[in-house]
Amino acid sequence: MADREFGFETLALHAGQIPDRETGARAAPIYQTTSFVFDSADHAASLFNLQTFGNVYTRLSNPTTAMFEQRMAALEGGRAAVATASGQAAEMVALLNICQAGDHIVSSSKLYGGTHTMLAVNFPKLGIEATLVDPDDPENFRRAIRPNTKAVFSETLGNPAINMIDIAAVGAVAREAGVPFVVDNTAASPYLCQPLQHGADIVVHSATKFIGGHGTTMGGVVVESGKFPWDNGRFPSMTEPSAGYHGVRFYETFGDFAFTMKARMEVLRVFGPAIAPFNAWLLLQGLETLPVRMERHCANTMGVAQFLRGHPLVAWVNYPGLPDNPYHALTTRYMPKGAGALLSFGIRGGYEAGVKFIEGLQFVSHLANIGDAKSLVIHPASTTHRQLSEADQVKAGVPPDMVRLSIGLETLDDILWDVDQALSGT
Ligand SMILES: *Cc1c(COP(=O)(O)O)cnc(C)c1O
Repeated sequence: MADREFGFETLALHAGQIPDRETGARAAPIYQTTSFVFDSADHAASLFNLQTFGNVYTRLSNPTTAMFEQRMAALEGGRAAVATASGQAAEMVALLNICQAGDHIVSSSKLYGGTHTMLAVNFPKLGIEATLVDPDDPENFRRAIRPNTKAVFSETLGNPAINMIDIAAVGAVAREAGVPFVVDNTAASPYLCQPLQHGADIVVHSATKFIGGHGTTMGGVVVESGKFPWDNGRFPSMTEPSAGYHGVRFYETFGDFAFTMKARMEVLRVFGPAIAPFNAWLLLQGLETLPVRMERHCANTMGVAQFLRGHPLVAWVNYPGLPDNPYHALTTRYMPKGAGALLSFGIRGGYEAGVKFIEGLQFVSHLANIGDAKSLVIHPASTTHRQLSEADQVKAGVPPDMVRLSIGLETLDDILWDVDQALSGT
């Protein structure tokens, strides 16, 4: 079996897991334990010296979590992965693994709100600066690179702007600068887009969204390609002896999974944002059906986009699956199987109509999340962005008339019915 290249659906069901040798259990066991018994004092010492691979304590690694990590690495076409307590934790682990005080990050300005705050407000408090650039022109990333830049960052498909990035072009800018291209692939999911195949070096996810898929579970994951040359002179923390870990030189010792080992031993182990084994197990269940869910998400969302486009109470529709969308060409190139489940539209009547629309919906739920099997809606101007002035809302890409939908797996006709009856009440 070893030399066969299995398909995505097969990997989503089997990668990282074999039936339990002790009991024969077909489903993955949940190793709900904090710690693991050592065979002997020598075994304990070699585990602590990183000479033997094995489990010590669940903050560092856990067998259930390892199955999720290996499956995610397989689905992204990466070398290794480390799971975290949330998507925010995944971004923090990935970036703190390569940046320290005095370093700099170049990022797309079209970001998830929490990521924007991390880069613009909280990292600067740690001495890590970020320059946010308009991602539509890859040259903007190049112009912002400095001698102390350590990473280029972007979302593949932006949330909530629903903009697609030219992964290969931005990846080339990062490669020329000798820094890794770190991408947040949450809104696309590995089924629709595999950034490592197009020039990204590290992928992060909020697994809370499509990977879990049911609005039940917080989690995150960082996947590395294994191909970045950490010995290019820019990353001494990867090549010099680690003061925090027995003088280990991560790149020399672990090679193509050095980034993951360092993230685990120097960030996860020390700062502690580990995922619970039960949550890792729930995310494994989510991955098993990711391909079929994403196909239905995309089909339903296209149906809603076309319906809204023909609706007299709708001013505009932003869905990259529509042929006249400015991101249609990039989305077709990088997400050939579908344009995802996120869609935004402008409602005639502005702010007031937006509020009435949300309140008129029957089963489409008003909440701050995406990627649930159930359809979700939010009116950013009256919720997530309500503290901004109208001018600043427009600058942030959330005009007062904008409604964002995350389309779920209900019967398409029922979604259209709910949206239509809520529109007619505005
Ligand atoms: C939700 C989200 C995050 C944050 O993930 P959490 O799991 O909520 O911490 C980061 N990036 C994107 C694109 C998201 O949608």
